[in-house]
Amino acid sequence: MSFSTLKLSTPILNAIADLGYTKPTAIQQKAIPVVLAGKDIIAAAQTGTGKTASFVLPLLEQLNSQYKETGKKLRAKRIRALILVPTRELAVQVEASISQYAKYLDISSMAMYGGVDAQEQKQRLIWGVDILVATPGRLLDMTHQRVLHFDELDMLVLDEADRMLDMGFIDDINKIIERLPEHRQNLLFSATMSEEVRGLAKRTIHKPVEISI
Ligand code: AMP
Repeated sequence: MSFSTLKLSTPILNAIADLGYTKPTAIQQKAIPVVLAGKDIIAAAQTGTGKTASFVLPLLEQLNSQYKETGKKLRAKRIRALILVPTRELAVQVEASISQYAKYLDISSMAMYGGVDAQEQKQRLIWGVDILVATPGRLLDMTHQRVLHFDELDMLVLDEADRMLDMGFIDDINKIIERLPEHRQNLLFSATMSEEVRGLAKRTIHKPVEISI
């Protein structure tokens, strides 16, 4: 299977070619068509399998096709996708991947995490961000600042869900989810599928397709 059979647009295929990827990994082959079909997924996948691209590529494809359909920029200052991750390092890494895959698209992304001054992050949000990658604690702090608008949110990704639960983020995650529109696509990735992860999935995710590699 090649990337071009996955129904991704030329700007995305060109960005993938620039990175030297020749074919999709197993998780990408399984997840991308399902995400493009608009379905929820629960995927068991470790780091190093190419899991990040398996949700970022179809997300970019969906945002880009909406942009083309309406013929105008996505509505400014509204977050279209929220990616929750356990750590600052992963937030930075996932956002860097998004920037690489989106290099030929007019889609913006931002990493938001604790331990740094919130003012700069707040300003970026005011300017407008399409895809927000965040750790749960800092995101929840920011929700009190009236700079986060989730009313146009289409997709929620819970990345490394098992680590987020191990780190005690369950209450924060639940509070964040309460603030999101009910009608949205949900993707959950976890290296392990514990009872806790399944519990979170059950409360959050609607009739998911289960994917393992
Ligand atoms: P991840 O599992 O998302 O952390 O990705 C692990 C590494 O694989 C990253 O450095 C990616 O840039 C790389 N990668 C992702 N997809 C592919 C692919 N289809 N071909 C080659 N490398 C890839």
